[in-house]
Amino acid sequence: MAEVTIAGLTKRFGDSIALHPTDLVVEDGEFLVLVGPSGCGKSTLLRMIAGLEAPSAGRVSIGGLDVTDAAPSERGVAMVFQSYALYPQMTVAQNIAFPLTVAGVPKREIADRVAAVAAMLDLAPLLDRRPRALSGGQRQRVSIARAVVRRPRVLLLDEPLSNLDTTLRARMRHEFARLHQQLGSTMIYVTHDQLEAMTLANRIVVMSEGRVEQIGAPLDVYRRPASLAVAAAIGSPGMNLLPVTIVACDADGAVVQLPGGTAVRTTARVPADAIGGPATFGIRPEHLSPAEDGAFAGAVELLERLGPLSFAHLGAQGAVGTIVAQLPGDRAVTLGETLRFAVPATDTHLFRPDGRVYPL
Ligand code: ATP
Repeated sequence: MAEVTIAGLTKRFGDSIALHPTDLVVEDGEFLVLVGPSGCGKSTLLRMIAGLEAPSAGRVSIGGLDVTDAAPSERGVAMVFQSYALYPQMTVAQNIAFPLTVAGVPKREIADRVAAVAAMLDLAPLLDRRPRALSGGQRQRVSIARAVVRRPRVLLLDEPLSNLDTTLRARMRHEFARLHQQLGSTMIYVTHDQLEAMTLANRIVVMSEGRVEQIGAPLDVYRRPASLAVAAAIGSPGMNLLPVTIVACDADGAVVQLPGGTAVRTTARVPADAIGGPATFGIRPEHLSPAEDGAFAGAVELLERLGPLSFAHLGAQGAVGTIVAQLPGDRAVTLGETLRFAVPATDTHLFRPDGRVYPL
């Protein structure tokens, strides 16, 4: 079993806190993805699990054993980094075999294990090449093979695809999904690419400023962000956010006034004492549905045509930046044209001044 448990794990660098006290249980065989903006503490958390960084406080256990004071090599973990760091003078086979050679594994067994991971990662035809004769994607596959060949109980991956181009990233995403199925090992994966997070994760951990903001299945986090920080971190293009005033509330939700003066309903439940106060109203681009008599209007400033769908960027009074609405790809739109949208109450989000969401 390779359940990873962290309890009260904390990291300070001098006076600044990279990770506030954090509790987290990563289940055996789970694919957990840590996401969040640059500097939020993702790598620090991963490095403390790996044993590459000493915690300021708290404990790390793997498979029920406390490893807080154990050396990285004694934890049964392997880590894949953004930079592949292969040995240039060694062949692919020698690079993959390296951790086993160092550990004194018999030659015969090394050959078998290298062949097995090479087959798994489509590297068999490349085993005699040196790293400089490989593409970026191939090099990263070699570094993954080198991590996997040790049969780690836990595989830690720190932005492993960020040096690759879009096409390769998409391919490697599939490879990771397949690898996880084949190995069944616990994987903890750091990224700021939310497409990777959404497609690979069993659960996503969204971090912000050294704290865990929300943990959940990717779609749950997408549909029900617990805070403004999560709403901003998950979804591309991001959730539209507008400063509003709460004008009424009842058992079905609340009514808020948009910056332009229009009142819209939300199913968010608001306490009566919040009436008259400020809030942040959120709606995702795909939930603004074109409607002749819609409550929300904006002039098209920019149109991005992606093929099957388009994103219209609308100038809207009081909005932070433009408001983005998703349209069918074949919809004719002229720049400057005013479009109207309905704002379905059930697809809206409302955030308190402290950033937490009002319950739906
Ligand atoms: P990125 O996505 O940019 O890699 P991250 O979420 O992984 O960011 P961390 O690398 O964990 O963030 O850094 C968290 C915070 O700790 C940052 O403010 C960073 O500047 C700080 N930090 C990290 N390592 C050190 C260090 N060795 N000394 C001082 N501060 C550090």
